[in-house]
Amino acid sequence: MRGPIVIAGGGPAGALLATYLGRAGHSVTVYESRPDLRVSEVDAGRSINLALATRGIVPLIDIGVIDRVDEITIPMRGRMVHAVDDPNPVLQPYGSKTHEVIHSVGRTGLNAILLDAAEATGNVELVFGRSIDRVDLETSTIHFADGGSTEFGVILGADGVGSPVRAAMTDAGSCVWTTDRLDHDYKELTLPAGPTGEHQLDRNALHIWPRGEFMLIALANPGGDFTVTLFAPSTTFAHLDGGGDVDAFFAEHFPDFAALTPDLDDQFRRNPTGRLGTLRTTGWSHEDRAVILGDAAHAIVPFHGQGMNAAMESARALARHLADTPDDVAGAFRRFETERRPDADAIADMALDNYIEMRAGVVDPDYLAKRALALELEQRHPNHISPRYNMVMFSTMPYAEAQARARRQAELISAAIADPSTDVDALVRALPPLPTLDPLADPNALSVR
Ligand SMILES: Cc1cc2nc3c(=O)[nH]c(=O)nc-3n(C[C@H](O)[C@H](O)[C@H](O)COP(=O)(O)OP(=O)(O)OC[C@H]3O[C@@H](n4cnc5c(N)ncnc54)[C@H](O)[C@@H]3O)c2cc1C
Repeated sequence: MRGPIVIAGGGPAGALLATYLGRAGHSVTVYESRPDLRVSEVDAGRSINLALATRGIVPLIDIGVIDRVDEITIPMRGRMVHAVDDPNPVLQPYGSKTHEVIHSVGRTGLNAILLDAAEATGNVELVFGRSIDRVDLETSTIHFADGGSTEFGVILGADGVGSPVRAAMTDAGSCVWTTDRLDHDYKELTLPAGPTGEHQLDRNALHIWPRGEFMLIALANPGGDFTVTLFAPSTTFAHLDGGGDVDAFFAEHFPDFAALTPDLDDQFRRNPTGRLGTLRTTGWSHEDRAVILGDAAHAIVPFHGQGMNAAMESARALARHLADTPDDVAGAFRRFETERRPDADAIADMALDNYIEMRAGVVDPDYLAKRALALELEQRHPNHISPRYNMVMFSTMPYAEAQARARRQAELISAAIADPSTDVDALVRALPPLPTLDPLADPNALSVR
């Protein structure tokens, strides 16, 4: 790669890619618009967490930071479903194998570990508080919001959904993209720790309150609190943000959560309402000088908990292509897109599907019957069938393959339920065998405690 090598953005994708490139001996400069989150109080008092799964875990093993990550994660064995008229929540386990758990991890803590890893390579310079305003691909110049500028040889855009690198590639005619804004928004809230610092709900589950058109989810933080997110139609937020009765809304739909969170109205007014959407991009690179990855190339809705996992999987794939053909950077960029774009499209679709599953499906008898049969068939034919959720969360099978397999599996499960005389075992045995796990997808990489 022609230097100077610049990475735009020091989020999960940018920090991880910097680590890979630094370890491969490249000198890299990362420009990040925010202050260094390892020393500044970004979002003080709020703990925002994410679900980390196999596709994100594999790169963390790869770069040797999994033990540090292990100290800040909380395993979640399944969905704890808080149904509307049942005071006793019910756990739906994600699977029966040891590694079939997802892990709640603080966004800031994980990002800090990745920034440390990038710095530890000795080849990465991290520049914080430097926002890229515009990238000029003709003159290979970055213009910063502070008025300064610098030249680059190659720029790797891990600068999130509003990517200035993507904007430059669009202007140059290399990239076209669409965004589909969802007509549902979200807001993050905090369910505080109990009087002695204890978690007030089971910490080892992802809590869901499915309510048909909307839902609440909660993931535990190590400090005893939970990050809780309300996903609901934009019209509901317009009503509540516009002065609607927040306490009455939560008391009616989520009484158990409301009883544990005394300052709901305050939090609701203080915290921003976030928008959601899907970004689909074609043309992820410009010659051998620019490429985009992560949310800059494939931002998705968060209902499969895969955006960051996918961004990290993409960073690993890009580093691999660059290492495979160091003298053909433009080709490496193209092969990266050829490999990853079908997967990005597939996870975008599956994430949208999962919203319906989470807010309504998990209490739907038809869904539950199909899931029960899928898990039963998996017990009998573990090498041929795996529920879609598990292929996405607990494997490194390409997303597009997981989607295609899931469609075929759904067809035969529907057929077996519609007609009990179907020889479903024979149909399952006829499915191609499941691929083996990535050798780094170690089931015991993170503690299940
Ligand atoms: C409500 C919600 C819940 C989510 N839950 C999950 C989950 O459970 N699991 C999961 O895997 N994913 C989840 N995601 C998705 C995840 O947050 C993103 O997919 C992930 O952060 C993408 O990483 P990235 O590095 O590509 O982009 P980002 O995290 O957006 O990082 C981009 C970086 O670039 C910097 N930057 C931006 N513009 C500039 C500029 N002009 N100049 C310099 N720097 C710039 C930003 O400050 C940022 O640090 C969730 C998302 C949302 C909204």
